[in-house]
Amino acid sequence: MDNHTSNFIKDRMIKDLESGKHDKIITRFPPEPNGYLHIGHAKSIIINFGLADEFNGTTNLRFDDTNPLKEDVEYVNSIKEDVKWLGFEWDNLYFASDYFEEMYSRAVLLIEKGLAYVDDLTADEIREYRGTLTSSGKNSPYRERSIEENLDLFSRMRKGEFGNGEKVLRAKIDMSSPNINLRDPVIYRISHASHHNTGDKWCIYPMYAFAHPLEDAIEDVTHSICTVEFEDQRPLYNWVVEKCEMASQPQQIEFGRLNVTNTVMSKRKLKQLVDEGFVDGWDDPRMPTISGMRRKGYTPESIRNFVIETGVSKGSGAVDSQMLEHYVREDLKLKAPRTMGIINPLKVVITNYPEGQIELLDAEINTENPEMGTRKIPFSRVIYIEKDDFMEDPPKKYFRLFPGNEVRLKNAYFIKCEEVVKDANGEVVELHCTYDPETKSGTGFTGRKVKGTIHWVEAAHAVPAEFRLFEPLILDKTEEEQEVEGKNFLDHVNPHSLEVLQGFVEPNMKESRPQDKFQFFRHGYFSVDPKLTTIDKLVFNRVVSLKSSFKL
Ligand code: ATP
Ligand code: MG
Repeated sequence: MDNHTSNFIKDRMIKDLESGKHDKIITRFPPEPNGYLHIGHAKSIIINFGLADEFNGTTNLRFDDTNPLKEDVEYVNSIKEDVKWLGFEWDNLYFASDYFEEMYSRAVLLIEKGLAYVDDLTADEIREYRGTLTSSGKNSPYRERSIEENLDLFSRMRKGEFGNGEKVLRAKIDMSSPNINLRDPVIYRISHASHHNTGDKWCIYPMYAFAHPLEDAIEDVTHSICTVEFEDQRPLYNWVVEKCEMASQPQQIEFGRLNVTNTVMSKRKLKQLVDEGFVDGWDDPRMPTISGMRRKGYTPESIRNFVIETGVSKGSGAVDSQMLEHYVREDLKLKAPRTMGIINPLKVVITNYPEGQIELLDAEINTENPEMGTRKIPFSRVIYIEKDDFMEDPPKKYFRLFPGNEVRLKNAYFIKCEEVVKDANGEVVELHCTYDPETKSGTGFTGRKVKGTIHWVEAAHAVPAEFRLFEPLILDKTEEEQEVEGKNFLDHVNPHSLEVLQGFVEPNMKESRPQDKFQFFRHGYFSVDPKLTTIDKLVFNRVVSLKSSFKL
């Protein structure tokens, strides 16, 4: 697949292969199934799968499902679909919950080695005892329990003899370590909750910091790639692998997470947008989720190219959302058929065109890609044009239609505006124009020139269509800007992020299928919505407009 240019993770892999530390690269993509994947996850997917591919290694898709309260099979299924859609195939599919028994016995091993103890302090007390960056922590009064007592209590925790939060299992490391993660971290907690995979078999669950290194080691992962927030946890990661006597020693490597302007990326926030009705689902086209972007009309190629361009580094500044748009435009430019769609119709009668006559005009499907061939479009006496392609009283340099002015109808004839018809409120409802048969497109007419070209759709054969136009979901650029004092990100949700318009498209569009993509003349790239489109009505989502100020 796509080639990653040189980066520190790749260099590390090359070194480990050359030194003989590993003879094969094994990576994993480990989502927690507590939400849908977003564009940030795409970065992690592309790094993990992409790098393993480059070295003929393997990649596991592993569901990190150790927190039963937030997890659901709906998320498991969506994650699988999204990874596949992005173009990746996992070598193995695993669930962390399948390792619960093994994790339990590794915890017992720690207890037996005097390296873990059952603590009765409450969560608040544990936090208080932990100390701060500048002050050392203090030992829990339960820290010196005997191995026998700990073994007994831990097995009773498993049997369900205690309530949620009554006891935890903690690693016994160092309460005065400068790295707070090493101050006796909690490694098991009690949670009487049904799990999507293991049902009611367990009422104790391992904490991420304990579970994750074990999962990696069990799967013989060689390079455990994660985001930089986990850098301070690396010593604990290594401690767990070593003290639990795992045969395999994975190496944790951190990179900077991907952030994009004018959106939010954490699953917690995305879930809130869904739950509180700001959007209509995880796959709403305004969401930065993979399913939302797919529905909007993004292609896997455009997402992959974007992610590759953002590179792999330790930093994590926000990338301009216009860069994403740039990549989808680039990808669709030669692939998407071009067509005419009227999103705000104004009726035009061509008074000197014979009544009842229909002619079929030839038009190229994609002027930048002639191999796509041509299409036929009907023309007759009544057509629709775009409302804003007409002005009764235009400013200077307005070259489209106004009374007395002549323009070119794309792929058809010159027409001239002769008369404006208004309703009782003075609103323009119809134009009467004349056409010049000499000016037919493709005949090489050079008699005179017009400055404006506008698009149109023949009225009798036009197919009604809905157009959904989007603006950024979040008004402020970065997550820091969204979190200024006294506000949270919901205060920054753009109330005008969706505009729905009813118009018309060319008759040959009738056959369009969900997710088919088109470039509508002047309006940009659109994709057929897979959920809202019915037999009677085509619904188009605008992927992106045509112009951008963005420069790479
Ligand atoms: P979120 O904070 O959005 O809920 P998460 O990190 O909790 O994300 P996980 O399901 O645990 O979500 O993530 C799976 C993998 O994807 C992890 O390895 C994580 O580091 C990576 N990942 C998540 N968000 C990003 C991001 N914005 N950029 C790069 N990688 C990411
Ligand atoms: Mg998480």
